[in-house]
Amino acid sequence: MPETVAQIEEILKDAHLPALMCAMVQMTGDADWLRPEWTPVYNPLSRGDTGIPEDEQAKIRRRAAEAIHAHLAGQPLAQPAPPTETIRRQMDFVAGAEIPEQYVDFLVDELVLKGRSSKDPHFETPKLQDAARRLKVLVVGAGMSGLLTGIRLAQAGVPFEIVDKNADVGGTWFENTYPGCRVDNSNHMYSYSFEPNHAWPQHFSPQPVLLEYFRGIARKYDLKKHIRFETLVETVAWDEARSVWRATLRGKDGKTEVVEANAVVTAVGQLNRPRFPDIEGMGSFEGPAFHSAEWRHDVDLKGKRVVVIGTGASAYQFVPEIAPDVAKLTVFQRNPPWGLPVPHYHEDVPEGMKWTLEHVPYYDKWYRFWLFWMTTEGFLPMVKSDPLWNGGPGAVSEMNAGLRDMAVASFAAQLAERPDLLPKVTPDYPVGGKRAVLDNGVWLAALKRDNVELVTEKVARITPKGVVTADGQEYEADVLIYGTGFQASNFLSFLKIKGRGGQDLHEAWGGDAKAYLGITHPGFPNLFTIYGPNTNIVVNGSIIFFSECAVRYIVGALKLLAETGSATMEPKQAVYDDFNKRVDEANAGWAWGSPHVSSWYKNQFGRVSQNWPFGLIDYWKATLEPNPGDFTLEKAREVA
Ligand code: NAP
Repeated sequence: MPETVAQIEEILKDAHLPALMCAMVQMTGDADWLRPEWTPVYNPLSRGDTGIPEDEQAKIRRRAAEAIHAHLAGQPLAQPAPPTETIRRQMDFVAGAEIPEQYVDFLVDELVLKGRSSKDPHFETPKLQDAARRLKVLVVGAGMSGLLTGIRLAQAGVPFEIVDKNADVGGTWFENTYPGCRVDNSNHMYSYSFEPNHAWPQHFSPQPVLLEYFRGIARKYDLKKHIRFETLVETVAWDEARSVWRATLRGKDGKTEVVEANAVVTAVGQLNRPRFPDIEGMGSFEGPAFHSAEWRHDVDLKGKRVVVIGTGASAYQFVPEIAPDVAKLTVFQRNPPWGLPVPHYHEDVPEGMKWTLEHVPYYDKWYRFWLFWMTTEGFLPMVKSDPLWNGGPGAVSEMNAGLRDMAVASFAAQLAERPDLLPKVTPDYPVGGKRAVLDNGVWLAALKRDNVELVTEKVARITPKGVVTADGQEYEADVLIYGTGFQASNFLSFLKIKGRGGQDLHEAWGGDAKAYLGITHPGFPNLFTIYGPNTNIVVNGSIIFFSECAVRYIVGALKLLAETGSATMEPKQAVYDDFNKRVDEANAGWAWGSPHVSSWYKNQFGRVSQNWPFGLIDYWKATLEPNPGDFTLEKAREVA
């Protein structure tokens, strides 16, 4: 622990100064920290650059160090909950931009400035608590969303059971163990809002660190006693007479068991089942062949000829890792990914930053908010389609074209000595059409290696010896790796769901999955999906934020049942239809909805079934609590 002001001053060299100044407002009660000459002017290409002159930065650090020193010596925070007007100024200040008014409520809630968060379950009265105790919820999945659901249900006093096919918690972070796997969202934002981790080792930590975070959460909240591992939920069927879901579970011994629950929450993500391409000769390859999400750690790649099919987010991470070890790496690309410059992608979080996060109250919140703003909402205007845009299919607006130019310039600079690669790695679709990857140079460095070849000719078939492209060229290989993504639009494909009147959810969808707010489904009472249809985000927001909103809504739905003495709720068809109509119209207005883009965001009918087309703030608002008017609520049926 630093003892002198000078030591603290030194530590603060690692801190994000605008977030620090916002925290100082609360520590000192002085809004003078937000003075115009200290307002940051960010440079999108240089993360640490706040535009504040160096001598002013030194003054800020000195003054902050004095305040922190006094606080550590026992001085209480002068103004932990500033007036709304000040919060508004803090918000604009840290973002370096004027943020719309509607964010104020959101931020006050996220910062828990009033001591409570809308995400905390509020079953206040004994009557509600008693009703909660009489419910039983079945949660499918013990990944990020399933654990979150368990935490909130436990806080609400609702009995629950979580079932997961895997042997441990963590979901995608348990399954994806390929070399180089890491989060592509700033970790200080990719964590539960109520469980910040001030010790993230990197800004974008590797998979084992993420898995350990979720294991730690399961331990802290004592969730494992509620979880059945290595068990698959095969079917859930609505029992009309008794208003319960009957779920058939299959354990790893193959035995089945039926359990009942008043509500079912699916928390299985969108990227849950690997997708293998439909290529002639699949399965004929004689050597080891596996998917990135099912990495074969027993297969030694050293000195082998390796073929990789796909250049999405997963391949982008593992190709640079394996390239130095293998004898020859052939990467088959159908469409290249856009890479946006993020130089600190693999960098450690400096020790001073970790100290500040841990010891300066509210610094972590303001830093999180800054990340949230800069990497999500602040980025949206650049991927919004301009209906009057006539600059060609490679962009959707002038601003989007500017982003393209910036990304291409960054590629070109990295490929100065290999200009032949530039046209191959430059996408012809707009930036934001698919999820962009974070570019710190390792991808193109790998593609430039002598032992790596990027092939853009179509894969025609797979043979026992390797891959043959449409031009007849054969690429022999010892190992074949599929980086071909997930069956994303095939929602809940492993689970048979029979609702009212025996109606099958997948038949009702007809391959075109929809839900109301991604969560509820007409005809399927008390069925809730987290990270369901149209709740994915493209430009790098945190999906944990979405899950927290959805879980708040689901707990609110259970409360609504308790308050109204109802046994069931399901959205009205008209509400569901109207919502999905608005979603479709809005999705058409973004780069990912462009007709020139084909991606896993679109289903077989070309409809964008994955993405949320509004602001994150809109999801936050829409999921504050269920609007009773949106639902049909029913009392329990009399059992004869
Ligand atoms: P993906 O982005 O869907 O990439 C699949 C790749 O396989 C694409 O390049 C695709 O080409 C290619 N492909 C599919 N079929 C093919 C065929 N028949 N021939 C040639 N190429 C073929 O999958 P992913 O990389 O697993 O990532 C999926 C999502 O998971 C990401 O968008 C992201 O949301 C998430 N993810 C996140 C991280 C992280 O950093 N946290 C890491 C991995 C994944 P086309 O582009 O032409 O379809």
